[in-house]
Amino acid sequence: MELKVKQEACIGCGACVANDPAHFEFDEQGLSHVISQENLDSENVKTAIESCPTSAIALEENEECHCEHCDCHKEEGE
Ligand code: SF4
Repeated sequence: MELKVKQEACIGCGACVANDPAHFEFDEQGLSHVISQENLDSENVKTAIESCPTSAIALEENEECHCEHCDCHKEEGE
């Protein structure tokens, strides 16, 4: 999974930075960006995503993997 901020949608309200400073930080333009891909299942990440008024935060599957040729989507033991 990859945590992203769509900066074209971010209005710099600060809700994500306040709710989850471990994952979000303002850049020099006053827009939020992601600073960590660790602990993406934490409650703070969910709270930050839910708190964003413009739905600018996305938690996405890794785009580079299309799973035709690798095992990344298989359960362990398959
Ligand atoms: S909560 Fe959304 S709009 Fe507000 S700073 Fe974070 S990403 Fe931007």
